[in-house]
Amino acid sequence: MTNKVIPLSIPTLNGNEWKYVKECLDSGWISSAGPFVERFEKAIASKVKASYAVAVVNGTAALHIALLSCGVARDEEVLVSNLTFAAPVNTILYCGAYPILMDADPLTWQMDVKKLRQFLEEECELRGNSCFNKKTKRKVRAILAVHILGLMCDIETILDLAKRFHLKVIEDAAQAMGLLLNGRHAGTFGDVGALSFNGNKVMTSGGGGMVVTHDKRVAEYARYLSTQAKDDAMEYIHKEIGFNYRLTNLHAAIGLAQLEQLDRFISKKREIAAFYKKALKDVEGIVLMPSPKDYEPTYWLYTFLLNSKATLDQRKAVIAALRKRGVEARPLWHTLHDLPPYSKAGSYRIEHSIHLYERGISLPSSVHLNTDDLNDVVKAFYEVHLFCRRSHSL
Ligand SMILES: *Cc1c(COP(=O)(O)O)cnc(C)c1O
Repeated sequence: MTNKVIPLSIPTLNGNEWKYVKECLDSGWISSAGPFVERFEKAIASKVKASYAVAVVNGTAALHIALLSCGVARDEEVLVSNLTFAAPVNTILYCGAYPILMDADPLTWQMDVKKLRQFLEEECELRGNSCFNKKTKRKVRAILAVHILGLMCDIETILDLAKRFHLKVIEDAAQAMGLLLNGRHAGTFGDVGALSFNGNKVMTSGGGGMVVTHDKRVAEYARYLSTQAKDDAMEYIHKEIGFNYRLTNLHAAIGLAQLEQLDRFISKKREIAAFYKKALKDVEGIVLMPSPKDYEPTYWLYTFLLNSKATLDQRKAVIAALRKRGVEARPLWHTLHDLPPYSKAGSYRIEHSIHLYERGISLPSSVHLNTDDLNDVVKAFYEVHLFCRRSHSL
C-alpha cells in the first residue's frame, strides 16, 4: 500500500447528484432561490420528523441562527461541551454570549450530565423563571448539546434539567444525521436543532446546514434572520440585523441526492464500525468506541482510545506513523477551555475531556472503503502499535 491513501471521511457521489445539478444548470436556478431548496427542506423535515426545516449555507450558520432564534442574547451564558469541534462554541460567541464549557463523560464521551446537574444545582440559582450563575451574575439561557461522532448525548437528562432550570435546549446534530433514539432523530428533542452537510459529514450538500424545529415561531424567526431580516422586501424595511445565510439551489440539489442514499451510508458506517471493533477488541489496553444499549450509533467516525497510560506525545506519534502508511487517522478535538479564543469562557471541573483528547484516535470511516482498505488500516495499526510496544514507548 505504498502510495495509497485511505481517507478519513470523504463523500460518495453515486446517486442523482449529477442529474439534479444538471437540472439546476439547465433551468438557470443556481442561486439562493429555486425548487431544490424547498424540496431539500421538505425531505429533511420528513426524514428527521421535524415540523419545520430551514436550509442555510452551513452547519455553523445553522447553529448561529438556532441560538438567536431561541433568544440567546449578549452577556448571557450557554452551557456547552468542552470536547467538540469549535463551531458550536464559536456561535455562542457570535451572539455576544459566554460559553460555559462542560466536561465529557468518560464512558459516553458526550457532555457529562452529572456535572451539568451539579453545576446547575450548586453554581446557579433560579429567580422567578430565570436561571442565574451565582458567581458571574449572568443569566444562563440555554444548553447547547453537541452529539459527537454519531453517538447521542444523554438528551433525556438534559431536557429534564433544562425544564427544571428554565433553559432552552439547542442540539448540534452536525455529526448525527440519521441518528435515532426511540424513533426520534437527534436534533429534534430540544427547542431547535442544527444539522451540517459539510463534505466530511455522513451526507453532504457540498456545503450546507439545516435548522430543524417543531416550533413554528422558532422556524419563522430562523427563516427571517437567515434571509436578511426583511420586514418589507419591496421597500427594503428591516427591523433587525439579518444574515445572508441562504443555501443555494445547486447545493440543495446535491443534498437531496445524498439524502436519498443516507440509509445506505449509515449501514456502511455501521459495517465499518463492526469491522474495526472486531479487529481492535483484543489489542491490549485499547478502549473501544462506546456501544450504548438504548440506541444504535451511526458511527460518523470510528474512534477508540489508546491505553490509559498513553501520553499525548505517544498518541501523536501513532497518528503520524499511521499517516506515513497512508492511513488518514485523526485525533479527537483539542479541549477548548485551554485554547486562546475561549480564554473568557467559563468552564466547570474539566478533567475527562483532556484524557479523551490525549488518547483518542479516529480511523478512516469513508463510506466507499472496502474490506481490503479496512484490512490495510488495521494492519498498519497493528504494526505501529507493536513497534511502539517493543520500543517501550506505549
Ligand atoms: C461540522 C460541525 C459543525 C459545523 O458544520 P459546518 O457545516 O462545517 O459549518 C458544527 N458542529 C459540529 C459538532 C460539527 O462537527
